[in-house]
Amino acid sequence: MRIRAAVLHEPGEPLVVEEVELDPPKEREVLVRVAAAGVCHSDVHFADGALGKRRWPMVLGHEGAGVVEAVGEGVTHVVPGDAVGFSFVPSCRECSACLAGRLTQCEPAGRNGVRGMLMDGTSRLSLPDGTALQHGLMTACFAERTVVAANGAVPLPPGLPLWQAALLGCGVVTGFGAVRNVARVQPGESVCVIGCGGVGLQVVAAARIAGASPIVAVDRDPAKFELALHRGATHAVDPSAESVRAVVGGGVDHAFEVVGRAETIRLAWDVLRPGATAVVVGLAPKGVEVSLPAIEFLSDRGIRGSYYGSGDAAADLPALAQLTVSGELDLDEVVTHVTDLDGINDALDRLRRGEGARTIVVLDTGLARAPTRNGGGA
Ligand SMILES: [Zn+2]
Ligand SMILES: [Zn+2]
Repeated sequence: MRIRAAVLHEPGEPLVVEEVELDPPKEREVLVRVAAAGVCHSDVHFADGALGKRRWPMVLGHEGAGVVEAVGEGVTHVVPGDAVGFSFVPSCRECSACLAGRLTQCEPAGRNGVRGMLMDGTSRLSLPDGTALQHGLMTACFAERTVVAANGAVPLPPGLPLWQAALLGCGVVTGFGAVRNVARVQPGESVCVIGCGGVGLQVVAAARIAGASPIVAVDRDPAKFELALHRGATHAVDPSAESVRAVVGGGVDHAFEVVGRAETIRLAWDVLRPGATAVVVGLAPKGVEVSLPAIEFLSDRGIRGSYYGSGDAAADLPALAQLTVSGELDLDEVVTHVTDLDGINDALDRLRRGEGARTIVVLDTGLARAPTRNGGGA
């Protein structure tokens, strides 16, 4: 079928919103009518060619939600009409990483995700002239419809508007997972969150819900302070170890880096108390290297990575949706702009400028039920 989608043809050039061909779902795949999609900094990295070569042409978009329209053979967990959120790590549950419980490190999901293909190594997307298109992070939801791996369509509990559910599958699951699955923050522990964009604000919210205190938010842009404080940060400071240590003298129990730059990863290390661990959540462009003062390993400090919340998206997405329905987690307030598919390049430019938090792209006004906000379109 023909659908409208936002296509990355060449890094550094604007995405082109155009008609592309979408093939029907094969075995263990699902066709979803996309309601809404969030625009994430990783989309900027893709669009700017920062994630390596041969990652185009591609339909971008990897956090979103919609309604199942058709299922391929062997799909039993959803039926047409079900509301689903996308998981861009559709863990196979059969490889050695999955069997060891490291579901976000699933080997076939990782391998095919990097190639821009679905789990069987092929694409359902092409240009009208037959040129194959890659599926952005196995999701490709800057599009009216998409075909995803069965495990990439996670059924959601009722009651959550789909424009909010669209946020769950990247920023929310990543930020909450870092706090809950990786750092396992306990009540009363101190936390520093470096970078208060879409994902960083979710880390702040997760730390608040975990009972952390103080929660020191760090950003180079003071305009982000208000959002972070509203979301549960107790302090907001500029990016220097001195500023963080002015709040938590001996260093923090947990530091989260949510930027993906060498100097902020170093800062996460510098603000730790002895024995504490920094969690790097931010996605760094290829080629970035980090240096640490090696003598300081004597302080028992640690640093580790986290991908996609390091949990189980099939369980975490519905749990986070429930947290939103119950009112503990407010997703509305991180959305600063609502637009339509034609507003995608403006949304990417806002992220490049570090302006605002999340933009929601509404693909289907009726399904998304989004409010009207600045950003044009919907
Ligand atoms: Zn993302
Ligand atoms: Zn696997």
